[in-house]
Amino acid sequence: MVRTREQARAAREAKLDELHERLTGAVEQLVSGDDWRRALTFAAQFRARSFSNTLLIWAQHGAAYEAGRVSEPMPSYVAGYRQWQGLGRQVQKGQPGYMIFAPVTGRFASSNLTDAESWRRLGKGEKPRPGEVVRSKMIAVRPAYVWDSSQTSGDPIPEPPAPKLLEGEAPAGLWDGLSELVEERGFEVLRVPHEGMIQGANGMTDYTAKTVTVRQNMDPAAQVKTLAHELGHVLMHGPDQEDARQHRGIGEVEAESVALMIGAAHHMDTSGYTIPYVSTWAARVDGKEPVEIVKATGERVRKTASTILDQLDTAQVTDGTPPGLDREARQHDQPARTQVTHEQRTSARPAAGRVEPLPEPEPAALSPGLVRGL
Ligand SMILES: [Zn+2]
Repeated sequence: MVRTREQARAAREAKLDELHERLTGAVEQLVSGDDWRRALTFAAQFRARSFSNTLLIWAQHGAAYEAGRVSEPMPSYVAGYRQWQGLGRQVQKGQPGYMIFAPVTGRFASSNLTDAESWRRLGKGEKPRPGEVVRSKMIAVRPAYVWDSSQTSGDPIPEPPAPKLLEGEAPAGLWDGLSELVEERGFEVLRVPHEGMIQGANGMTDYTAKTVTVRQNMDPAAQVKTLAHELGHVLMHGPDQEDARQHRGIGEVEAESVALMIGAAHHMDTSGYTIPYVSTWAARVDGKEPVEIVKATGERVRKTASTILDQLDTAQVTDGTPPGLDREARQHDQPARTQVTHEQRTSARPAAGRVEPLPEPEPAALSPGLVRGL
């Protein structure tokens, strides 16, 4: 059967619709604070991918487990069909992949980098004119597939490290690493003997005095968790937000969620993190639907936590990328930069048919027109 271009386009559109629907369904499952906590704990283990894609992988792996197609309730490493082949492993027959969003990029040329209007899209195979610079840019999303390691067979995969922490113990080097990041932002880290000195709180960020204060009369794990929470405030919030009352709830959720992801990435027990019911902080604001607010919040948190984790020199859980994927391939799993040079991306162009998971798109950031314009 020969499929026309229109049929292929329609099929892709239908899959994208299905994917958006599936994602909405997964977001709507996040009701209690505990649901949110579990979603972020999962996202911490697959943090190289967008928050939306982690939800999609979570939901589809869960369904595969329920159906008896995979043996473990949690995936370990996920990668594209060819990435697995590159690691000497083959996707087993009858194992459907997990559908996620992948970016569609276009090539753009310009002779005047300072003029945003000057970029013109290059046609297929079109060469830039002399003096023009070429950039690849994400213009839309398309469906792509990934498989968990348990759906593949072949060369063995090294076991992920699983260091255990004692109750109340802080991961080695985490306090110092987080303190450095707070100080890099021009804030001083202070420790006080008890909560009476900071209005009964575990920690406090003062944007005017430029201080982050943590009380010392808690176990080391609780202190480092509090510092991660305050670092979340330092990176994501500012003095203006302190007054914006309707955003205060979401600010606390963001800071606590960043701390949660940092903790989860260090094997810390995340059951003690306090997140209110999702409906209490993701209420409809400024015409934005709760589902959109949940997705945007999750992605903001994921980005902030990943940025922090990348800068720490601590032993962390894997980010879901199989060990041994070459650097080039790993980069494709990094969050999408909006613009990368064409040269960096040439090898990342997917071949027709099988689609590899390339840089993570953020569907929310795309206008529906662009997505539909595929
Ligand atoms: Zn706070």
